[in-house]
Amino acid sequence: MDINQLVQDGQNYLMNTYKRIPIAFSEGKGSYLKDTEGNEYLDMVGGLAVNGLGHSHPKIVEAIKNQGEKLLHTSNLYWIENQVKLGKMLVENSFADKAFFANSGAEANEGAIKLARKYAYKKYGEGKNEIIAMSGAFHGRTMATLSITANKKYREGYAPIPAGFKEATFNDIKSVEAAITENTCAIMLEPVQGEGGVTPAEQEFLTAVRKICTEKDILLIFDEVQCGIGRTGKLFAYEDYGVIPDIMTLAKALGAGVPIGAVVATDEVASAFNPGDHGTTFGGNPFSCGVGVAAMETIIEEKLWENAEKIGEYFSNQLQKFVDQYAWVKQVKGKGLIKGLELEIEGAPIVESAFKKGVLINCTSGTVLRFLPALTITEKEVDQVISTLSDIFKEIK
Ligand SMILES: *Cc1c(COP(=O)(O)O)cnc(C)c1O
Repeated sequence: MDINQLVQDGQNYLMNTYKRIPIAFSEGKGSYLKDTEGNEYLDMVGGLAVNGLGHSHPKIVEAIKNQGEKLLHTSNLYWIENQVKLGKMLVENSFADKAFFANSGAEANEGAIKLARKYAYKKYGEGKNEIIAMSGAFHGRTMATLSITANKKYREGYAPIPAGFKEATFNDIKSVEAAITENTCAIMLEPVQGEGGVTPAEQEFLTAVRKICTEKDILLIFDEVQCGIGRTGKLFAYEDYGVIPDIMTLAKALGAGVPIGAVVATDEVASAFNPGDHGTTFGGNPFSCGVGVAAMETIIEEKLWENAEKIGEYFSNQLQKFVDQYAWVKQVKGKGLIKGLELEIEGAPIVESAFKKGVLINCTSGTVLRFLPALTITEKEVDQVISTLSDIFKEIK
C-alpha cells in the first residue's frame, strides 16, 4: 500500500494519540526491518524493548504456528497448560514463588498495586495503603499507574485520578525516608528507569530501600517491564543488584511481540489473593503463554543476557568515544542493552537523521537517545549504528 494513502487513512480512522513517523513496516528478520517500499532499517528500538529476540525468530514463528493450529483461548475457568508452564519457568528462574498473567505492562502494574494493598489490608486492616513511587518513573497509562508515573503531563485532564500515591526522589534515600509513613504499604520502582532517561538505580540506594522495606514491612515492587528479561546483562535486573523485591512485574519482551504481562511474588505476598480477588479474561491464555514459553526457553537456553552484557559493553565503549569527542554529548547511560546517550541538545532531529540513513533509534526525556535492540544483536550491527551516528554528529556544530 502507498504510504501516503496509509497515513491519510490512518488520520481519518484512528484516534490521534501517537506522533508517528510516516512509515510502515511490512516484514522483519533479526535486527532488521523492511518498510512497505522495500527499504531496510537497522532496528535499535526493538518495539520499545518488546522484540527481545528480534523479528521473525524461528522458535517464535514455530510456537505461533503450533499453538495457532491447536488452541488460542479457553478461559481462566479452566486450567491452562501453557500458563502453568510459563509460571513454572518464571518461578524456577527468579526469586518468586507464584505468578499471575495479564496482557500488558500497565495491567501487570495494576495487579501489583492491588496485591500490595490486599496484602497490607489483610495483615493490618484499612489505612496502610499508600504507595511511594520515584521521580522519573514510568509505570503505564491506566488510571492507577498514571498516578505513579512521574511526568505530570501524562495526568493532565484526567482528574480525578486514584489517590494514595506519593513521589520520592529516585536515588535519594533521604527523600524516600521522608515520604514513608505508617500508612505506606509499598515502594515501587524501576531498577533501571526507561522512559525517565535510561537511569539505573544506584546500588546503595536499592540496598537501603530494601532494608527500610524489610524493617517496616513495606513491600518492595520492582517494575521490570522494560529492563527485565535479559536486557541488563542478567535474566532480571534485580539480580544485577543482589536486591530481591517482594513483587516484580514483567511484560514487553516476555512474549517476544505477543501481548502479555506478569506479576510475580513470594508465597507470603501472593497468598493475599484468593479466588475472585483479581482476574482478567485474556490473561494467561494458551496462545500468549505458549509464545511466552518459547521466548523464555530461547532466552534461557542461549543465555542471551550474556550477549546483552557483552555487546552492551562494546556498545558503551563505542558511544563513550562520542562523549570524549563532542562537548555536547554528555554521558553514556544504562546497563547491558538498555542504553542511553545523553546529549545537551534535543535528540529528535538526530532520530530523524538516523531514520533517513536507515537506522531506527528513539529519544526519551527530550535529550537522551535510547537504544533497546534485540538481545541477539551483533558487534557488526552496533558498528553500523556507531558509523551512522558518527556521520550525523559530524554535521552538528
Ligand atoms: C512500557 C512500560 C510500562 C507500560 O507497559 P504497557 O504494556 O505499555 O502498558 C510500565 N512500566 C515500564 C517500566 C515500562 O517501560
